[in-house]
Amino acid sequence: MASDNLYDSSPVYRMAAEQLRAVAAAIDLDPGIAARLAVPKRSLITGFPVRMDDGATRIFMGYRVQHSLTSGPSKGGLRYAPSVDLGEVAALAMWMSWKCGIMNLPFAGAKGGITCDPAALSAGEKERVTRRFTEEVLSIIGPRVDVMAPDVGTDEQTMAWIMDTYSMKIGYAVPEVVTGKPVELGGCMGRREATGRGVVYCVRAALDELHIDPVGATAVVQGFGNVGSVTCEELNKIGTKVVAIGDRYGAIRNAKGIDVAALSRHVNAPANTRRTVVGFAGADEIAADDLLTTECTVLVPAAMERVVTETVAGKLRCRVLAEGANGPTTPNADAVLAASDIYIIPDVLCNAGGVTVSYFEWVQDIQQFMWSEEDVNHELRKLMMQAFTRVRKQAVERKLSNRLAALSLGVQKVATEKLKRGLFP
Ligand code: GLU
Repeated sequence: MASDNLYDSSPVYRMAAEQLRAVAAAIDLDPGIAARLAVPKRSLITGFPVRMDDGATRIFMGYRVQHSLTSGPSKGGLRYAPSVDLGEVAALAMWMSWKCGIMNLPFAGAKGGITCDPAALSAGEKERVTRRFTEEVLSIIGPRVDVMAPDVGTDEQTMAWIMDTYSMKIGYAVPEVVTGKPVELGGCMGRREATGRGVVYCVRAALDELHIDPVGATAVVQGFGNVGSVTCEELNKIGTKVVAIGDRYGAIRNAKGIDVAALSRHVNAPANTRRTVVGFAGADEIAADDLLTTECTVLVPAAMERVVTETVAGKLRCRVLAEGANGPTTPNADAVLAASDIYIIPDVLCNAGGVTVSYFEWVQDIQQFMWSEEDVNHELRKLMMQAFTRVRKQAVERKLSNRLAALSLGVQKVATEKLKRGLFP
């Protein structure tokens, strides 16, 4: 399965493919279906030119990978990061398929990315990069084909530019071509907060199961972007204090609990151009390498993939590992964790709140009927808790780890749809 393709040179893709093989073995997946699921349906690679502020022309590499088109339009974020390559995007697209499957959303998985450092681009350059990329992928996106959303390095403004570029081409406003837009353009109330909220709904359910009171529990969070910052706020709301936080520039710690609102002010201060947690007066600096191994009740990696390696896994001192990021734990690390008593809430369940509210946004735009934030949060909690229960039931009944249980539900849904639709033409 997936041995001689374009994607396999990427360690992230090999990791996603390895997980799929483990699921295929665990649920006795039809070999033909397993082979179809092991490579993406369609990938677009574009090297496109952008005029930079200094007048120079720079070529950017952009990718949009649609893992499957079986379950509905493909759905997934667009990432701007230096690490972006075809394999990373393809792995993230595959994980989106499983995530949508677990949540029972009428979407298949996709992901996009542009290899760049967004912090090094001016607002004008970012806008030109985004609009040109949108033009390049125009033939394979659309409300019924492929719907983008924010991911690492992109935000509501990025989605507004995509929506505008697409709409100008079509000739009328098409808000449903992207999700995670500004509310003024048909965005959904609570979409920005949805991933972090979903993470904490899952954390709460896990703590309940373990008979641990969230009040007085402690948390360590890696990443203070959209997912990490909201996760910290929501953890505080359930009485859990966040004792350490890190980002790509370093990490900070305060055993009494970090003041999350004050940290947000520090990160968003105009002088803090890197938007880093480093330098925050209300905490001590610690070595970035010590962050994940800091003792806590709940550890939330909420940044990039493959940070919990085999070595790190052996040193974790948490009770619950709540994966806010996509793919933070390597398969080798999983093997180490299997021998520990750490309760894992796997990424495809834990961070599914984002795409779930994206689904609500898409539905509202199509129906041109907007919900209140209260309705959004109520439905989000309901769908997250139903999925959590399904995953735990599958884990207990089939004697699987939470990760294999979650992935197998996602894979099984797509596999069943493929089998029922048949192979045509
Ligand atoms: N980028 C987010 C994720 O990884 C959201 C995707 C979406 O809303 O389509 O789940």
